[in-house]
Amino acid sequence: MPKKTMVLEIEGEEIKVSLYERKRTRSFHLSFDHEKGNFIYVVPFFSSKKEREDTLRTLYLRFQKNHPQYLEKKIAKGDFVWIFGKKEKINGWSLMSEATRISYLKKRFLSYLEEAVPRLSSLMGDQIPHRITVGTYRSIYGSNYAKTGTITFSLSLVHYLPEIIDSVILHELVHDYVRNHGKKFYALLLKYCPDYAKFRNALIQLDYEGNTYGKN
Ligand SMILES: [Zn+2]
Repeated sequence: MPKKTMVLEIEGEEIKVSLYERKRTRSFHLSFDHEKGNFIYVVPFFSSKKEREDTLRTLYLRFQKNHPQYLEKKIAKGDFVWIFGKKEKINGWSLMSEATRISYLKKRFLSYLEEAVPRLSSLMGDQIPHRITVGTYRSIYGSNYAKTGTITFSLSLVHYLPEIIDSVILHELVHDYVRNHGKKFYALLLKYCPDYAKFRNALIQLDYEGNTYGKN
């Protein structure tokens, strides 16, 4: 069976799925392959592009709601936790409650962001002061609320290499100038982050240490 990929932007996040076209089905199905770390999308062979996109959007948002843990699946083994793209030993991690783990990771992540956001923002000549918050695990990596000058980042980013995190920070900072995700937006983003596609792919693949772009 020929395997294709399909990319769709959902709430500002680019979702890449492996596409399987089936002749003998009329229904759409989305699942997450934990081994490979990617989404499998089964569609009727004779469905339109619009149908596939609309249904993927619906199924993806439903999936996120029902499986908030899918992002966390790979983050830890025993007392080893992926933090900033490296496996770190945190004594007692496996015994900590969910709330304790989240507050621990949030603290680590916030202290990184408080340094990185002003650094990258001044690189862009951005004069806008930002309030930074960290949300829990969710489908959206970041949001820039212009009205309050607040940028929220998903805690799931704490597991990735700093350069991958920085690509998300730059994405949000570019929204200070361009609100949508049009041509102008990407032109500006690529100016500050030429390897954006590579980092975004690492995020999609849940590749914390950047192996997908041949780093080690
Ligand atoms: Zn965006």
